[in-house]
Amino acid sequence: MSLPIIAIVGEPNVGKSTLLNKIAGARPAVTSPVAGTTRDRQYVDTSWNGVDFTLVDTAGLTFGKTGELEEELTKQIDVAVDQADMLLMVVDGKLPKANLDRKTLLRFRKSKKPVVLAINKADSPKVAENLLADFASLGIKPAFAVSAISGRGLGDMLDYLAKYLKENKLISIEPKPVGIGVAIVGKPNVGKSSIFNNIIKEDRVVVSSIPGTTRTAIDTQITIEGEPYTFIDTAGLKKKEHRQALPDIYSGFQTFKALRRSDISFFVIDSVEQITKQDLHIAGEIIEMAKGVIILANKFDIFDGDEDQLREYVSHHFPFLWFAPIFFVSAVTGDGLDEALAAIKPIYEARHKLIDQDKLDQLLYRKMKLNPPKRLRDQKIPKIFGLKQLDVDPPLFELLCNYPAAISKQFRDSVKKSIVKELNFYGTPINLRLTGKDKK
Ligand code: GDP
Repeated sequence: MSLPIIAIVGEPNVGKSTLLNKIAGARPAVTSPVAGTTRDRQYVDTSWNGVDFTLVDTAGLTFGKTGELEEELTKQIDVAVDQADMLLMVVDGKLPKANLDRKTLLRFRKSKKPVVLAINKADSPKVAENLLADFASLGIKPAFAVSAISGRGLGDMLDYLAKYLKENKLISIEPKPVGIGVAIVGKPNVGKSSIFNNIIKEDRVVVSSIPGTTRTAIDTQITIEGEPYTFIDTAGLKKKEHRQALPDIYSGFQTFKALRRSDISFFVIDSVEQITKQDLHIAGEIIEMAKGVIILANKFDIFDGDEDQLREYVSHHFPFLWFAPIFFVSAVTGDGLDEALAAIKPIYEARHKLIDQDKLDQLLYRKMKLNPPKRLRDQKIPKIFGLKQLDVDPPLFELLCNYPAAISKQFRDSVKKSIVKELNFYGTPINLRLTGKDKK
């Protein structure tokens, strides 16, 4: 997938996240794989009038404390200007426009990216009209008076954005990776660059291209046993000096973009450091995008202990990655990297395979015999009628039943587990959809 990016920028509390969620609309809330928690959505792929694009909520990318406002805004703008194709600047229509930071405004206007102004909290047509007149003096055109809560005015604004992207050919900018696309992701300092450099230092590199001028993504194409792979750069894996100067928020954005274009991720963690929220966040992103995942426990050369210990620690923290293979590697000695590379292709193939119906029938038959769904309190007796594969990449299965609500989570999970284990879908998240046959 390769989508143009619209960054939503503006001061805190003007309604950026509300706007993003309203536009993203139908998509369900992001549930973090960490039980019971949800996280703010920062990026969303969406479409309007047939034009697909990615919206980025820059507020979600910042961790700034109050008092650092100006610095945070500056960073947001830098990232947005660097990465986005368009900027959607949101202001609060309920606040006097004199409150707006003039330096910020100037930066937007000076940036070479097209800026669209969204005057938020315009809750009635009358208010909208007044706001448009009032904010016209800012000189940011076009301007739309919208309500992120009710959706008022959003249609016109989206019409404009979609039309602009289309007319300016901002569609499909990122190149498709050649062969199998691999993204090396992980929090800072786990050794991503070192791994990347180790992999490409051998004479496997075919081309390293720098597509476009505004983009910083660098794809490196390599060949392993005649098979093409594209390593998708995250946060300037190769340009180390440059990368150090970049703000943290940049790496999250890069992770998202690289993952989106990839088939498989090398999810790198540090063997000698604690697993943190940031690791979980990245793992959650991989699952949400349903990308193949290979865990690389890096710096194993300096780990004081054995593999089983570390394996246990990792599976304790990432129970939702139970299906992913883990390799104990060292970017310094190169240990384990060949094995990790060899694991990519089988996972890629698993993501693309279609299982024969009779195999699925047999699996379900065994399941129903050994481990049938239990009746839930206040629910009808669960009945299962069939299991089908609906799609590949990522694999999607459908469980036909009487009522989805009558099928316990336990049973759903165990069906998924059986599919992975018995039909060998290791390394890739699979989706299971429940379809009810009977009306409620
Ligand atoms: P990145 O931010 O994830 O790209 O991490 P880097 O590749 O820049 O590595 C961070 C630090 O860890 C550097 O000082 C590396 O030399 C060191 N490092 C990376 N991989 C290994 C490894 O396998 N073993 C050891 N001992 N150090 C490593």
